[in-house]
Amino acid sequence: MSVFSSVEMAPRDPILGLTEAFLADTNPNKVNLGVGVYQDENGKLPVLACVRTVEQQMGSEPKPRGYLPIDGLAAYTTEVAKLVHGADAAEIADGRLVTVQTLSGTGALRVAGDFLHQVNPGAKLLLSDPSWENHQAVFTRSGFEVGSYRYKAADRDGIDFEGMLEDLRAAEKGTVVVLHACCHNPTGYDLSEEQWDQVVQVVTEAELVPLVDMAYQGFAEGPEQDVKAIKKFVATGRPVLNTVSFAKNMSLYGERVGALQVTCTDAEEAKRVLSQLKVLIRTMVSSSPTHGATVVAQVLSDETLRAQWTKELAGMRERIKTMRRKLVEGLAAHGVTPENGKKDMSFIAEQNGMFSFSGLSKEQMVALREKHGVYGTDKGRICVAALNDKNIDHVCAAIADVM
Ligand code: PMP
Repeated sequence: MSVFSSVEMAPRDPILGLTEAFLADTNPNKVNLGVGVYQDENGKLPVLACVRTVEQQMGSEPKPRGYLPIDGLAAYTTEVAKLVHGADAAEIADGRLVTVQTLSGTGALRVAGDFLHQVNPGAKLLLSDPSWENHQAVFTRSGFEVGSYRYKAADRDGIDFEGMLEDLRAAEKGTVVVLHACCHNPTGYDLSEEQWDQVVQVVTEAELVPLVDMAYQGFAEGPEQDVKAIKKFVATGRPVLNTVSFAKNMSLYGERVGALQVTCTDAEEAKRVLSQLKVLIRTMVSSSPTHGATVVAQVLSDETLRAQWTKELAGMRERIKTMRRKLVEGLAAHGVTPENGKKDMSFIAEQNGMFSFSGLSKEQMVALREKHGVYGTDKGRICVAALNDKNIDHVCAAIADVM
């Protein structure tokens, strides 16, 4: 008998299962709106020109690949601190900001989860309802009892903001609250500036611990605007954690380049926090990979490359917004209008980021797949960043047909 004979089959990742079904589909018009990656107007995953330039330089002058320090490449963490918190941030000058390199955003969440659970093993953790499905798994693995706060309104499009505040107010002191900095996944609904002010106030008054997950910096309004929630929490003077990922905004998904940042109350506290994060990183991965961090550090520190990145990022952001508008217009052109007794789909243009909660039912999503080869998740999430001028009409016609 094998030691593994009692090992049970783990449930399949729903998104990966969708991709497999997509690949096996012989429909020539098939479109994969299930995955969470940005694709360019030709349906390709882009290699940004700023990244290409750095990699060409690296290729012509290969450098030795020694181990990085446990907390990451200093040139990288220094640039990340400035990019996210601002070059003139007081927390940087005061030595209160800890930035450690992690295996992309997911790695940052896991290090944060392990750290926070270790600091306060009795604390609960709250996620938005709904949230990125891996949040639940990562924080459960860190040892947390994971609950949720209301987010997507149950009976209409948009956010149940009063419900959200009510749930946050009711949370026990010390509860960790995971918030999406921008481009909420999966709903696409972000809080307004005023709503953020209220959330920050409630979280502060209730003495909760904010963890701001930022997987899409620059995809909503721009890299400087999209950090507003982090800045508002920092301004309270109470500790805040935030994640950073260059998967989407530099199209470096597979390089796994990210960071965890902890803004502490003073420099002495920051030293102790850093020392504990290093213990966690040391026992998880020992140290982080060199390549992606080197690329990002070069792009962010070189004026020309940085300007090019800002422009390329704006290009991705604008293309998604254009596709949102075209989706709304295309659906209307195919008869999806309130005048025809159908749902008003204009909310899609108001959402941010790569995803849209279409509001379609599971049956409609299955019909989209089986009849039209259009793949989104059963919960109705579609990746608008995978739409382009070649596939949008087919997608609009397909959605109109199943509605
Ligand atoms: N948080 C959210 C909300 C996400 O949507 C994602 C990616 N889908 C991540 C974190 C993690 O991304 P990565 O590990 O690729 O940086």
